[in-house]
Amino acid sequence: MRDPHGRVGHAMAGLSRLVSQSRVIFITSMTKPFHGPMLFGAITCSLLGLVVWSQVSITVEEPPTVNSNDVFVFQGVTGPTEKTVVAPPGVSSHHAYAVGGPSRLAVLLTEERSNWLGLAHGLKSIGVPFVVTRDYREALKHRVILVYPTMTGTSFPPEAFRALGAVPRNGGTLIATQVLGGGLEEVFGYSETVMASRNQEIRWNRAHPLLERMTDPAEWVTKLNGKPENLIGTYSYGQARGMLGTYPDGSVAVTAKDYDKGHAYAIGIDLGALLLKGYNNRSEGFTTSFDNRFDPTLDVWLRLLKGMYQAGEPNAVTIGTVPFGKSLSVMFTHDVDFTQSMANAVDYAEFERSKGLTGTYFIQAKYIRDYNDDIFFDEQGARYLARLSDLGMELASHTVAHSASFNGFPMGTGEEQYPGYRPFVKTRSKAYGATILGELRVSKFLIDRLGGGPAMVSFRPGELSNPFGLPQALVATGFRYSSTATANNSLTHLPYQMTYDRLSEEEVDVFEFPVTIEDEELPPMGERLPQALTLAKQVARYGGTVVVLIHPNILGHKLEFEKQFYEAVKDRAWFGSIREFGDWWSARNALHVDVSADVHRTTVSINAPRRISGMTLEVPTGWTLLPQKGVMQDGRTIILDVVEQTRVLHFAVAGAHRNS
Ligand SMILES: [Zn+2]
Repeated sequence: MRDPHGRVGHAMAGLSRLVSQSRVIFITSMTKPFHGPMLFGAITCSLLGLVVWSQVSITVEEPPTVNSNDVFVFQGVTGPTEKTVVAPPGVSSHHAYAVGGPSRLAVLLTEERSNWLGLAHGLKSIGVPFVVTRDYREALKHRVILVYPTMTGTSFPPEAFRALGAVPRNGGTLIATQVLGGGLEEVFGYSETVMASRNQEIRWNRAHPLLERMTDPAEWVTKLNGKPENLIGTYSYGQARGMLGTYPDGSVAVTAKDYDKGHAYAIGIDLGALLLKGYNNRSEGFTTSFDNRFDPTLDVWLRLLKGMYQAGEPNAVTIGTVPFGKSLSVMFTHDVDFTQSMANAVDYAEFERSKGLTGTYFIQAKYIRDYNDDIFFDEQGARYLARLSDLGMELASHTVAHSASFNGFPMGTGEEQYPGYRPFVKTRSKAYGATILGELRVSKFLIDRLGGGPAMVSFRPGELSNPFGLPQALVATGFRYSSTATANNSLTHLPYQMTYDRLSEEEVDVFEFPVTIEDEELPPMGERLPQALTLAKQVARYGGTVVVLIHPNILGHKLEFEKQFYEAVKDRAWFGSIREFGDWWSARNALHVDVSADVHRTTVSINAPRRISGMTLEVPTGWTLLPQKGVMQDGRTIILDVVEQTRVLHFAVAGAHRNS
């Protein structure tokens, strides 16, 4: 298996780097210890971070003074002047998710200190409207209730158990994770709960209708954990009468019991914790690849929840994941981190411009000559930068130092300024005078100032080195979108919202767009087009995202790949920069959809605090949109030109259902 953190040279870049042959060998030998930080579990990872940092700080050598010949100074350019302040950690309140009508799924929270934020972000990502409540009486106003994270004998008063237990009999849907007590065994259709913590995967019951659309073999088995420190609490349900999935030992992981109209499902794992493993990039042991492959671990779970919602709620209207009703979102992104790349980037940009595409160019503000490379962020570099901006491309940050040990950098003072900020990369594991805030604020300042485009919002670190403090550092420095993770170590092909310190307590206003396809794996990218197109097809079946990363260190087969990939997917794909898709995705994240019905018609109310173009809805079978301007229907998909603030749609519904 290949290691993405062995991305030593950005391919051809190694040729011109200021490294001797013996250092190249050293780099390779350092690959192993370094491939972990992004992937290890919490404890391992922070320890490793400490090790990395101690290697940098506790050194007998004097930090090298950066020779002024090794720094490029733009005359008269100094900044940024304002200080960056990173907000202290806080706790997100579930009350932020409390408001919404009865057509939504209700998450009935039994423990506030839990991983509910993972569940909330997952439901947002897949587009299921929901509310979070601690009050079972509020939950009972909804037809589909998901009890999270545990159901024990003391979770509710007896009358609540009676009421919840009656939900499926009365035509509703009761879903619960980690059901340990409460006397609802018969409701879910099993006899006893058993600890089952050593199981590494769930095998899905393909005969069940909810699995009907899981047509790819990668969706038939879902990984749970690979290493002891990553164990997700798992239980099995003994003598279950119906099941959605089993563990390898044959015991039932997810029960399914159908009633006349209602349904009951007991899920044996902490689904919020699993989702956060992916979203926080603490998924070591789950995945055997980083990118260029289909890994729908979280997506299978989210699609199952969406399926349960659609099966249980006659007015289930869900929010689409791709603009304008296309089946796939594609972003072409480029990491400009090598001398020749600045000039080559313009060639990629000209191609993209010729097709009406906007690429995202993550540019290293390389004004210091060091171990990695020569200076290329100088007067000539600034001319290329301005050209990219003229071509309408998105300019974004790829740090100043491009250090593999970025994940071990201290946060910094927030007062780092160009040209005084002089991070110096000495070896792959050693960097001096570098901070997280310095990398973010100084690169942003320089590129914004010299590129002449709008203030940048997107960031990708060198070597995808991912500090735990990155989410809050991005917020503090004015970034809104990150492309720091890979799809496969996020366990998802959908974007997601980030959390403070990559933990479970607090959400931050930054969204991650993980890398799907990249150019450093072998065989060369130009030979991997069929594989890439297969992956795009797999992801497109449920409206996923493809972030393509191409280093413009060469043109040749890489540019050819981009052209051919574009041609092959252009009819079904929506294309945009990280900024464009990020703006769309974050506006989508903020919007609310509720459904009400009376005897005459069914009404969908949309509330979009941020203007959004091309939002889509998926409506139930048999719904017909009553004509109005700026909205069209294509089968079950509704496409809206623009929504800003409130919008109301009316439908004629065959055999109309109504909310009670
Ligand atoms: Zn790079």
